[in-house]
Amino acid sequence: MLLNKFFGLFSNDLSIDLGTANTIVLVKGEGIVINEPSVVAVQKMKTGKNKILAVGKEAKEMLGKTPESIQAIRPLKEGVIADFEITEKMIQYFIQKTHNRKSFIRPRILICVPYGLTQVERKAVKESAYNAGARDVILVEEPKAAAIGAGLPIQDPKGNLVIDIGGGTTEIGVISLGGLVRSKSIRIGGDKFDQAIIDYIKQKFNLIIGERTAEEIKIEIGSAIPLDEELTISIKGRDQITGLLQRLEISSQDVREAIAEPLREIGNALKEVLEVVPPDLASDIVENGIVLTGGGSLIRGLDNYLSQLVQLPVFICEEPLLAVAKGTGKMLEEIDLLNQISQNE
Ligand code: ADP
Ligand code: MG
Repeated sequence: MLLNKFFGLFSNDLSIDLGTANTIVLVKGEGIVINEPSVVAVQKMKTGKNKILAVGKEAKEMLGKTPESIQAIRPLKEGVIADFEITEKMIQYFIQKTHNRKSFIRPRILICVPYGLTQVERKAVKESAYNAGARDVILVEEPKAAAIGAGLPIQDPKGNLVIDIGGGTTEIGVISLGGLVRSKSIRIGGDKFDQAIIDYIKQKFNLIIGERTAEEIKIEIGSAIPLDEELTISIKGRDQITGLLQRLEISSQDVREAIAEPLREIGNALKEVLEVVPPDLASDIVENGIVLTGGGSLIRGLDNYLSQLVQLPVFICEEPLLAVAKGTGKMLEEIDLLNQISQNE
């Protein structure tokens, strides 16, 4: 106990936003030190064991481009842990990479995981961090971290509604007095948009494209509502019938049609949450509106799309891809504040 307090004074605590698409590590007092895709490249050995070839950016480069013996895996893809061993390796890699920048005394680690993880999955994440040398591991609720990161006054007795649209999941939370009053997590997010674009282009143009091309199309020209000036992008893919490689021009109208269904599902989830918000908190939300965080909220016009749907103001926070990480960072500082107070007692 005494030792813990002693170490607590010197160690640099860190927080991890373990996202389905990106992992962001923040060191207290320093800010963000790692921001990389949650991807692991693995080689299947003859012995049946997995050898990790790369993690993060380097591994994402390999997605869709690997020979048969190598796999680029997204261990948290659908908002669940697909492979415990690989998830553990990834967490440990990111912790150790942070560690090596400085010789930390065993850090305290705050981890924000997808809200829909089961108890077993949560325990596995915690253990991975302990095995990587954490002194203490605390899991935080993602909608809360997103709301704090977006700068919402969640400690107030007021209803705050935040929607975090990530790669694998969309999480909706109503928060008041620091607690989650209502929440919903659906397995719809950026990945589903990408998949919808792949399916649409295959159906309409007989062209096969990969996940990375689909993501590029979404980011370059994706929109939720008609644009003043519609956009186009030139892509390459394989013709399903001739097997030949082809170039094709895709428009933002095409992409809008492609992603209509997953967008509708996010809208429906929002409506469902609004239907069960206690009336007093609902009136705060009517007044203050809804805040969007997460990379998926960067689809052009998504704020207006949702605003028209539920007839409430909708805002996108600053730097939506960093909101959860910033929120966990603020929580780290608050833990210290709490500790200080308890030490003074
Ligand atoms: P997670 O928290 O699940 O890791 P992020 O909040 O990091 O997810 O968001 C990742 C998702 O955001 C990916 O699906 C990515 O394609 C998408 N994304 C990133 N930038 C944009 C953009 N400019 N427009 C649309 N989608 C984007
Ligand atoms: Mg996230």
